[in-house]
Amino acid sequence: MDTIPVNEPLLDGNEKKYLCECIDSGWISSEGPFVRELEERFAARVGRRHGIALCNGSAALEVAVASLGLGAGDEVILPAFTIISCAAAVVRAGAVPVLVDCDAATWNMDPDRIKDRITGRTKAVMAVHTYGLPVDMAPLQALADKYGLYVIEDAAEAHGLTCRGLPCGSFGNISTFSFYPNKLVTTGEGGMVLTDDETLAERCRSRRNLCFQSGRRFYHEELGWNYRLSNLQAAVGLAQLERIEAFIDRKRRMGHRYRTLLEDIPGLQQPLAATDWAENIYWVYGLCLKDDVPFDAAGAMKRLGERGIGTRPFFWPIHEQPVFKHQGMFAGESHPISERLARRGFYIPSGLALTDAQMDRVAAALHEVMA
Ligand SMILES: *Cc1c(COP(=O)(O)O)cnc(C)c1O
Repeated sequence: MDTIPVNEPLLDGNEKKYLCECIDSGWISSEGPFVRELEERFAARVGRRHGIALCNGSAALEVAVASLGLGAGDEVILPAFTIISCAAAVVRAGAVPVLVDCDAATWNMDPDRIKDRITGRTKAVMAVHTYGLPVDMAPLQALADKYGLYVIEDAAEAHGLTCRGLPCGSFGNISTFSFYPNKLVTTGEGGMVLTDDETLAERCRSRRNLCFQSGRRFYHEELGWNYRLSNLQAAVGLAQLERIEAFIDRKRRMGHRYRTLLEDIPGLQQPLAATDWAENIYWVYGLCLKDDVPFDAAGAMKRLGERGIGTRPFFWPIHEQPVFKHQGMFAGESHPISERLARRGFYIPSGLALTDAQMDRVAAALHEVMA
C-alpha cells in the first residue's frame, strides 16, 4: 500500500522553464535576476515596500530580530505554541523569550494574555499565524502602540491569508515568510523578510550578506550571516508566485472538503472555518482529539500510519523544550492549552498536490481509527 505523504508540493507551472533559464544564462547564485524579481513581486503582493529574500524562514526570523537591535535583557513576547525557530531567533540574539498561551479554538496566540506579560523590559511582540488562521492583529497592535513595542509578524504559514481584510505580512514593523515545500509558495528552501522601513530593510540586506560593505568589501563593522537565496531557488519561487491565487483557492476547497468528510466524527475537533477577523486558509488541516478519545495524537498517528496515511504532530510547546529546560528557562511555567494541543493535535495530508481520491482515503482511515 502506498503511503499518502503529509505534504507534496505542486511544481507543474513555469518552475522548470525558469530553472532552465538559470542554467542557460549561467546565473545560479544570489546575484541572479530572479532573486530581485521575487523580492519585488512578493513584497508587492503583500503590499510592503521592501522584500529581502533569505535562505529559509528561520533565518528570516533571526535577521528580523537582529535588525530591530534586540539583545541582552530585552524581552520578546511570543506564543508558547509555535516552532522552535521563533524562540531560537530571540535566544540567539541574547534576548529573553516570554511566552503566552494560545486560544483553544483558533490555536493562535491569545492577544488577551499579552498585557499580563508586559514589563519594563519588553521590547517586542512576535505574532505567529498558525495553521491557517491569523492572530487578531488589531488588539495586538493596539497594545504594541500603547506600550511602544515592536511587532514582528511570523507569516511563514500565512501566504495569501488576510486579517480584517489586510494581508498577513503587512502588519507590524517587520514580517517574515518561509518558502519550505509545505508552505503555500515554495522555493525548496527559502524565506523572506518584508518591511516598509528603509533602515530595517538595509540592515536585513546587510546581515543576510555577511555585512560586506560596498566601499570596502572585506572590512566589517558588524557581524552578519550568509543567509542568501540562490537564483535557482528564486526561479522556482517566481513560478509558484504566479499561481498563488489558484493555490489559495485549492487550499480552501481542500479545507471545506475535509470538513464535510470528517464532520460526523464526534471525537475530532476540526479547525474553525472562520473567526470575526479572518477566513481560514487551511495551510494544514489540523485535528485535535477530544478528551473522551482513549488515545492521544501519537496513538492516532500510529494507527493512521498503519493505514498508509502520513501525518505530523502539532508543535511541542516552547516551555517544554528540553534544550531550554537544560538552560533553566521557563522553570515552573505552564501553558495548559498549548500543552494539551501538543498531546492531542496532529495534521493530516494537506499538500497542494493532494487529490480528491487521496482525501477520501484519508477520511476513510480516520473513520476506521476513530470508530
Ligand atoms: C515553517 C515555519 C518557520 C520556519 O521556516 P523554515 O523555512 O523551515 O526555516 C517559521 N515559523 C513558522 C510559523 C513556520 O511554520
